[in-house]
Amino acid sequence: MHYAKPLARLVGELEKLPGIGPKSAQRLAFHLLRIPADEARQLAASIMDVKERIGVCSVCFNFTDQPVCDICRNDRRDRKVLCVVADPRDLLAMERTNEFTGLYHVLGGVISPMEGIGPEMLRMRELIERVQRDEVKEVILATNPTVEGDVTAMYVARLVKPFSVRVTKIAFGLPVGGDLDYADQATLIQALEGRREL
Ligand code: ZN
Repeated sequence: MHYAKPLARLVGELEKLPGIGPKSAQRLAFHLLRIPADEARQLAASIMDVKERIGVCSVCFNFTDQPVCDICRNDRRDRKVLCVVADPRDLLAMERTNEFTGLYHVLGGVISPMEGIGPEMLRMRELIERVQRDEVKEVILATNPTVEGDVTAMYVARLVKPFSVRVTKIAFGLPVGGDLDYADQATLIQALEGRREL
């Protein structure tokens, strides 16, 4: 491609984004070229703002710009029920149902020998600490219905059972290999209501 150098650089950066191929990167780059400088500045600033101000909640490890996230600080939520998810996107999917009133625990990924991710690299120790400290009554496992998701759910179940906690797993009406993030609201509500004992 015979792009001017700065344009080539922008296209190159955009191509690194998930779901953006060379064609889309080019389309976005030309769009950015056309928009007013102010708009471009706002976009650049919002990217940097997110990088500088968003961290993780010290309780549940959700993304937040506070030391403790809004969900964990909400007194109306049931602290005795924890929904365990792999990442913050899954937490958002569960929140969209407006059905779950407990708190969350974000593991930060799933166990995946293929990718060299063992349980010690996830927030398992922190989960145990919470279960003990807050005398949690139920742990609801909401990992994706994939091999890694199931392995991770089983691992967590074994880990927390000795603390006399009810352990349940959401029932999926999704095809195997599906993604929580893409589940519609009704499907997720059903999955939550139909959760079963592990
Ligand atoms: Zn939190």
